Amino acid sequence: MNDSIVLCYHALSPTWEADLSTTPERFERQLELLVSRGYRGVTFTEAVESPARGRVLAVTFDDAYRSVLELGLPILNRLGLVATVFAPTDHIGSERPMQWPGIHPWLGGPHERELMPMSWAELRALAEAGWEIGSHTGSHPHLTQIDDDALLLDELARSKAACEDHLDGPCASLAYPYGDFNARVVTATATAGYRAAATLPSRQHARDALEWPRVGIYHRDDDKRFALKVSPRIARLRRSAMWGALDGLRRRARL
Ligand SMILES: [Zn+2]
Repeated sequence: MNDSIVLCYHALSPTWEADLSTTPERFERQLELLVSRGYRGVTFTEAVESPARGRVLAVTFDDAYRSVLELGLPILNRLGLVATVFAPTDHIGSERPMQWPGIHPWLGGPHERELMPMSWAELRALAEAGWEIGSHTGSHPHLTQIDDDALLLDELARSKAACEDHLDGPCASLAYPYGDFNARVVTATATAGYRAAATLPSRQHARDALEWPRVGIYHRDDDKRFALKVSPRIARLRRSAMWGALDGLRRRARL
């Protein structure tokens, strides 16, 4: 039985109340819970490609926020875990707050510095510590909204090449920005040469190397919600058809 968990985090901050930010204290407690249950840390590509023997945990971070290095690395080191960072490569090295729909509201405010990306040197230091650095495309677009095939492939290939040039190693994996993908995007991802790609679904769909579902962890996930999200029983339920029906009802209720 495949007993792996792939978690998706974004930023860590003691004070930033954004949906995509988790406090370091909560982050540490969440991972401590899994380590205490016998989970062992692997990179995202290892979780996808190596059949799980026992419980494995892949911690992933989208967007390459600097807080991952400053606040996440010490916690992961203490727990003996590695992680995977998915970097939107056009932004790496800019030393400017990242910008795209969804994080725009934080620009110009007191939390603007939370939007700073890591540098290539910082990503390299993580890679040397055993972390995986994957791609999060070049500019962080909605890939399904790029109608031109050449532009779609360029977002995927340009980012892979940038990671490989700067980090002197293969870039095997991708996280679709916003978890947004379809069959055409998956085909382009394969063409660009990726071996593994991460989604971020509300329903835990079937696993395929280029459509690998992750469990998104957000600001609102207190200890109780987190424990439910990583419960093996709930994970099996989330993959079931019944969950899909419930999820559809929930989404319609929110409209
Ligand atoms: Zn992202």
